[in-house]
Amino acid sequence: MEHIERFIRYAKIDTQSNDKTGTTPSTEKQKNLSRLLVNELKELGLEDAYMDEYGIVYAHKKGEGDKIGLNAHVDTALEVTDTNVNPQIHKNFDGVSVKLNDKLVLSSEQFPILKNFKGCDLITTDGNTLLGADDKAGIAIIMSALAYFHTHPEVKHHNISVSFTVDEEIGEGAKHFSLEKMDADYAFTIDGAHPSNVDFENFNAKHFEMDIDGVSVHPGEGKGRLINAVLMLNEFLNMMPKNDTPYEANEDEGFWHLTGVNGSSDKVHVEFILRDFCKEKLLKRVEIIENSIQTLLKKYPAIKIKYDIVDQYENMRQYVDKNPKPVEVAKAALRKNGIEPVSSKIRGGTDGATFSKMGLVTPNLGTGSYNHHGRYEFLVIQEFEKMIQVVIDILKI
Ligand SMILES: [Zn+2]
Repeated sequence: MEHIERFIRYAKIDTQSNDKTGTTPSTEKQKNLSRLLVNELKELGLEDAYMDEYGIVYAHKKGEGDKIGLNAHVDTALEVTDTNVNPQIHKNFDGVSVKLNDKLVLSSEQFPILKNFKGCDLITTDGNTLLGADDKAGIAIIMSALAYFHTHPEVKHHNISVSFTVDEEIGEGAKHFSLEKMDADYAFTIDGAHPSNVDFENFNAKHFEMDIDGVSVHPGEGKGRLINAVLMLNEFLNMMPKNDTPYEANEDEGFWHLTGVNGSSDKVHVEFILRDFCKEKLLKRVEIIENSIQTLLKKYPAIKIKYDIVDQYENMRQYVDKNPKPVEVAKAALRKNGIEPVSSKIRGGTDGATFSKMGLVTPNLGTGSYNHHGRYEFLVIQEFEKMIQVVIDILKI
C-alpha cells in the first residue's frame, strides 16, 4: 500500500518545530522532510519542485482551468517528542481499545470518538512519541493524489500548485509564504481531523500587552503616595467583563484570556489574547480595555501605563463570502464520495486564514487523523484513503 508507506516514511522523519530559536525554519531538521518531498515531487513529474531558503517547498503541475493550491505543513507539535516515531498498524479495530505499549492504552472509554471506527484499520504511536499525522497525513494525501495523476496521465485535471510549509505549530506557517511562488486561484490546507469538515470560520485574534508603572516609596511613608502596580492591575482586571474567559466561553463565543503576568509593586507587565468570531465583538473588547485604562489613569494620575494591541489573524469567513468557489468545490467532491460536508468553527487560527487575508482563499479539509499533538494521536486508514479520493476529485476536471 503505497500511500500508507508514504505516510509512515514521512512520520518517521523528526520535524518538530521550536518556538524559542527565532529562526525560519525554527529547526533545521524540518528541511530533511522538505528535501525528501522535493525529490519525490520530481519523481511524480513536478519537475519545478524546489525548497526555498526558509525550507518551504513549492511545486506545480500543469493542467487546465483553475489553478488549485494544496498545502500541508512539515513540522510537528511541541507538546510531545517527534524523535523515533514508530507507527503501529492495527487492522480491524474492535471499537474498544488498542494497546500502545505496556503502560498506555488507547481506549474508547477515554476517547469516545474511537467507537465510530469499529472495523477500521488504525495507525497509532507506540506510546512514546506523537504520530505526526498532523500534518504528515495531509502531506501524504497530497502526494498520493499527485501520484494518481502521474500514473493516470489520461485523466484531465486542473492546474495544481503545491506548497509544504514549515513552523505551522508555532504560528509562523504563513510568515514567509509567497503567493507568487504558490501561484494559485484558491487553495486548501489539508490539516484537519474529520473528512466531512470544510472549515472556513476561525477566530479574529488580537494580542494585548500593557506595562503599568506604579509609584514606589518606602511603605512606611506611603500614605497618599505609594501606588502599587499589582493592585492597579487588580483594579484593571475587575473592569474586564465577567464570565467571558475561555473557561466560560461556548462553542461560538470568543473570550479574553490573560496569558501572563510578571512584576512587582513597582512595575507590572501583563499580556492578554483576545478572540472573537465576530469582528465587532473583538473591537468592543479593545474599547473596554482602552476605557478601563483611561479610568485608571484618571483615578491615579501619578501612574504610567503603556500598552500595545496588535492583530494576530482574522476570520477567514469574510474572504470566503467574497469567493465561495473553493468551499463549493470541496463540498461537491465530498458529496461525490458519499460524505455530507459540515463546516465547524475553528476555535483558533489556521495558516489558511492568513493565506486568505493575503489574497489566497484557503479553507481547511480533514485528514482522517485525531487526538493531534500527543501520544494518543491516531490515523484512520479508511478515512485517510477517502481523503485521497476527495482531493483527486477536487483536482479532476
Ligand atoms: Zn496541523
